[in-house]
Amino acid sequence: MNIAKVIVDVPAGSINQTFDYEIPERFQEMLRPGMRVIVPFGSRKVMGYVVARTGESDFDHLKELIDILDLTPILTPELLDLGKWLAEETISLYITAFQAMLPQVLKANYKKELERLTTESLSEQLEVLFAGRDFISYEELGNAGVSFYQVQKAIQAGDIAVHYQVKSRVTKKHITFLKPAREVYLLEEALQDMSNKAKKQQEILAFFIERPEEIELNYILKKFGTTRAVINALQNKNLLTALKKEVYRNPHDDQAFEKTAALTLTKQQQKALKPVRQHIHEDRHDVFLLHGVTGSGKTEIYLQAIQDVIDKGEEAIVLVPEISLTPQMVRRFKGRFGSNVAVLHSALSHGEKYDEWRRVHRKEVQVVVGARSAVFAPFENLGIIIIDEEHENSYKQEDQPRYHARDVAIHRGENHQCPVILGSATPTLESYARAQKGVYQLTTLNKRTNDKAMPEVNIVDMRDELHAGNRSMFSRSLKDNMEERIKRGEQIVLLLNRRGYSTFVMCRECGHVKECPHCDIALTFHKYNNRLKCHYCSFEEPMPMYCPSCSSDLIRFFGTGTQRIEESLTQLIPEARVLRMDVDTTRRKGAHEKLLTQFANKEADILLGTQMIAKGLDFENVTLVGVLTADSMLNLPDFRSSEKTFQLLTQVSGRAGRHELPGEVIVQTYTPEHYSIEMASHYNFIQFYQHEMKVRKKFQYPPYVFLALITVSHQNHVTAVQTTQKIVKTLRTYVGEDTVILGPSPSPISRVKDRYRWQCMVKYKQEPQLRTLIYKIIRQFDEEMRKDDLQISADMQPYQLM
Ligand code: ADP
Ligand code: ZN
Ligand code: ZN
Repeated sequence: MNIAKVIVDVPAGSINQTFDYEIPERFQEMLRPGMRVIVPFGSRKVMGYVVARTGESDFDHLKELIDILDLTPILTPELLDLGKWLAEETISLYITAFQAMLPQVLKANYKKELERLTTESLSEQLEVLFAGRDFISYEELGNAGVSFYQVQKAIQAGDIAVHYQVKSRVTKKHITFLKPAREVYLLEEALQDMSNKAKKQQEILAFFIERPEEIELNYILKKFGTTRAVINALQNKNLLTALKKEVYRNPHDDQAFEKTAALTLTKQQQKALKPVRQHIHEDRHDVFLLHGVTGSGKTEIYLQAIQDVIDKGEEAIVLVPEISLTPQMVRRFKGRFGSNVAVLHSALSHGEKYDEWRRVHRKEVQVVVGARSAVFAPFENLGIIIIDEEHENSYKQEDQPRYHARDVAIHRGENHQCPVILGSATPTLESYARAQKGVYQLTTLNKRTNDKAMPEVNIVDMRDELHAGNRSMFSRSLKDNMEERIKRGEQIVLLLNRRGYSTFVMCRECGHVKECPHCDIALTFHKYNNRLKCHYCSFEEPMPMYCPSCSSDLIRFFGTGTQRIEESLTQLIPEARVLRMDVDTTRRKGAHEKLLTQFANKEADILLGTQMIAKGLDFENVTLVGVLTADSMLNLPDFRSSEKTFQLLTQVSGRAGRHELPGEVIVQTYTPEHYSIEMASHYNFIQFYQHEMKVRKKFQYPPYVFLALITVSHQNHVTAVQTTQKIVKTLRTYVGEDTVILGPSPSPISRVKDRYRWQCMVKYKQEPQLRTLIYKIIRQFDEEMRKDDLQISADMQPYQLM
């Protein structure tokens, strides 16, 4: 078994396969699948993942692998299989799939070093190697010819540690602790014998007699206002020992979370939890769709199911959308399971993410709460996977590998024979249809735990406002209601649907719209620096004084951004204190949380924001939710726009009146008759589902068909078109009769960064060979992709149709 099969880090279609390498003698004992290695590739050295060891190869004269980067595998056997499956499922390269499953730190280029942790002696070879130093470079280890097995053993024993250095010096953080070196009675004896001149030593020793435990060195130094020399003296007398311990950068201070206990479940909750528990205990896989209105106690069900999993000695993954990974959400899990929870989300630094990941990797926690990629948590005994707000778009990755976390979760649920829960107040049509067909098990929670009714939704027709001479963004009814709440000391959430409100610049004289010269989309006006920016590429230019087309000076920005609304809001109600939450005000790390805390502390009357305020927030003092223009999303070129509108309106309405005070929702719209606005105002999911399913059937959209989108881009327009034509032609030759191929057509955004984008869409019901076919078609263009910068990508479950 001295041959390693390696997936190399060369992201090109032509080398999307394993390569065989000879394992040198010195690595044979320790090399295991799932470790990263350095291998020669052509004239270069590249990183790769060992996926298997084998005794024979079809090739002669194999090259030797050069180095091993991990001393324990970073991918479990299950994740190695999963990576392969993921690549095939999403038509991505194997290397891309593996990279997607690991934290950034393990992907970057880095240097490695070894750190000595123990003050006890190491094996002779290692002592020679370290030669009195605390840190040595990894290369030294290689050159010294020390057996790797020995190093591995020392690492497992906690005597030394490996660090990956990305930019910052150490990715792991160590702190020195002191503890008594001998029994307490011996310390007491020593204290009595000690010279009275050594006052500090006496004090410190007395302290450790009181508290014979590990205490941070820095704490002692500070407390006794002393220096390292005094400590050294105590160490030399063999009274205290110093030890270095790794501490994790814990972004959430566990002590700060108040402990919570399981609540007595309501009848509904019990009924929902029961079959899940059964599956947990019988190690059975199934998918449960938990359709529960906001406030129906879904999270409590998750918590109690996880408790069973923990008691069984197994592990749980909870996925929540990135934007709802708020301190409130984290608190609920940390409050129940304390330090048994790792949290993974994008607001963490690379180092913090790596630390959290390693707590999972080392089995130091049993629960992971995280955004999309947490679905790859390297647990080996999964007992449950939960996806909260399963309808959220952020579960779909829009880069290679273009996977949906739901599919990965279900696949892992099958591997581990454990249940998967999909929870939502507004499930996707796809999931709900599957539940209707019995593919998933449906459970409905139609009551809030506090028996409070859902807030009343009032629709305001903005056309009537215009007729009545009100040209502002705020209807009279919304204005009056806001003023009333502010008077009563209650709070308001205002939602502005950003996507419909690009703040573009238009000439009122001739209608000319300023567009990006590279991307064919309107430029966005940024008031703070008076510049126009493209949201797709980074092009920007100053706001023009005159229309470039007709020279009129009536060129103005149009549409409304949150900033603009904030201004007119403070004009309309001068006494209102407004907090604005959008991409601009939340860019800085921690800004999002800070704004929410301010709002919770009642430092503002109105929270004004984009979609990001619609999720998971729970403020007891909010009694009014206003939606400024509900229909702005309805007009996007996307077959899911009605569904998205329904989901957003339902979610945001759930923000009001969750506690004692009754809530109200005001929805402003220019199309009050539209069914998704109408039905959302009655919280009628089933009716919406039935109506929307008819629409989807009529126009043949998911869930009635599957979609695959192939996008081609190139600097040369003709090349982009012709390539897409060739692809369409080949596809037509091989797909079944019922399969529809649309295109070639320009992508809705037909040019980005000076590249022309063309696409074709496959609509199919059954095409078992489609993935293989598309993969093969793309491979035919390998040469052009490498030499001519042609790009072709496939998305097997497109959500963004642009
Ligand atoms: P959802 O996740 O469905 O929106 P939550 O789990 O947030 O609902 O529950 C809403 C509120 O009801 C929370 O404040 C929660 O603590 C409370 N709650 C949940 N289950 C119970 C229960 N069985 N008894 C009392 N309160 C509960
Ligand atoms: Zn003009
Ligand atoms: Zn652009």
